Amino acid sequence: MAGETQGDCLFCKIVEGHIPATIVRETETTIAFRDINPQAPTHVLVIPRVHYANAAELAAAEPTIAADLLREAQTVADEDKLESYRVVFNTGAGAGQTVFHAHAHVLGGRGLHWPPG
Ligand code: 5GP
Ligand code: ZN
Repeated sequence: MAGETQGDCLFCKIVEGHIPATIVRETETTIAFRDINPQAPTHVLVIPRVHYANAAELAAAEPTIAADLLREAQTVADEDKLESYRVVFNTGAGAGQTVFHAHAHVLGGRGLHWPPG
């Protein structure tokens, strides 16, 4: 499913301002806000304003917006003064994806183990 917004999508509701979020950055194409259940001192989600179910679908249809997510992830990290950080795109329920609107997790502010769980 792709398009401007999807009525039943949680992150589309945040884009439309119908659900509050702690927004840290906004651009013409993206919004970055703090995760409601943070897994690290910095845990920000960077999402496209347009709805795609996951990052791969976004990249296939809107490659410049997919690149915008990565640039915004770096800017979020810079603003939180992170020397190291991790960008995660959970894709599919088996990988932990629970919200099917493409989003980058930006995690940092503590040591991050590898491999991830
Ligand atoms: P996923 O599991 O799909 O990769 O990531 C979804 C993320 O969205 C989770 O880390 C979850 O904590 C976060 N989340 C779910 N509902 C809300 C919400 O209403 N507001 C915010 N800010 N984050 C949310
Ligand atoms: Zn959506």
